[in-house]
Amino acid sequence: MHSMRFCVVVIIGFCLFNAGLIAQSTKPDRQVAVTIDDLPAGMADRLPATDITAMTAKLLTTLRDQKVPVVGFVNEKKLYKPGEVDERIKVLEMWLDYGFELGNHTFSHVSLNQAGLKAWEDDVIQGESVTRILLAQHKMKLRYFRHPYLDTGRDLETRRKADEFLAQRGYRIAPITLDGWDWMFAGVYEDAKKRNDTALQQQIVKDYLAYHDAVFAYTEQQSVKVVGYEPRQILLLHASNLEADHIGELMDVLRKRGYRFITLGDALDDSAYSLPDTFVGEGGTGWIDHWAITQGKIPQGAPVFPQWVIAKAKELHQSTGQVSAETQ
Ligand SMILES: [Zn+2]
Repeated sequence: MHSMRFCVVVIIGFCLFNAGLIAQSTKPDRQVAVTIDDLPAGMADRLPATDITAMTAKLLTTLRDQKVPVVGFVNEKKLYKPGEVDERIKVLEMWLDYGFELGNHTFSHVSLNQAGLKAWEDDVIQGESVTRILLAQHKMKLRYFRHPYLDTGRDLETRRKADEFLAQRGYRIAPITLDGWDWMFAGVYEDAKKRNDTALQQQIVKDYLAYHDAVFAYTEQQSVKVVGYEPRQILLLHASNLEADHIGELMDVLRKRGYRFITLGDALDDSAYSLPDTFVGEGGTGWIDHWAITQGKIPQGAPVFPQWVIAKAKELHQSTGQVSAETQ
């Protein structure tokens, strides 16, 4: 009897061991770099510096605890609120003190497509002053640039000139491949949080996580169609209370899909980021789309954004008279 039971235990154990090996070998080794735009905060004009500081501390604590490397992209114009300038600069310093990196997202979040090349170049330069000093104090250099609205130029000549300008100033362009429009959820979440509407907050978070998961799945499929494999992905998020409160859960969604977190520099080493890219357009988009369109493949089947969130966001703008320009 004893030996029989021993045999069963051994066989079961062996099966479990094998199942473990199979699960391990079939789990894809996915990699992602996280980037966060619109620092010090997407809604910096509406939030007092104390709120921005608390939001940032919460966001950075989670990211540091979970060992997620991040580059944050700054709009320095948001620092210049009378009486709050020092406090707002301290928020940027927090990013470096926590061990993260800062990049340039232009001074005033200006679109290359709207402003034109010269005005846009001036805004890029104006956006360097404080960030460059803070980085130097941490023995770092300003080396990454992210286009506002992902607008990279309406025509190829402008795009190439802008690329050349950025390269001359020592920048590497930070492309994106994963984008779940978190800024759209974040605006509605901010309002629900202010009104202590916890039921609505939960609903927003549920859809924010589900929509991102759907975008990740779609982008993985598109990657294989366009690039031939899943490159090291780059995720676009925005500095907001939604991310401060829930980014840990979003990182769990990525982990469940087999992702591990890498630096932006490591992501850019993927040869996908040197693929031919002749994309131009009125509106910006992610780089998987850039490469698809360059190859003459029209991107199809992107998951539909939850319409009720768009409707709520529109309602908010109407009732406050404010139009959010802080997107992407
Ligand atoms: Zn932005």
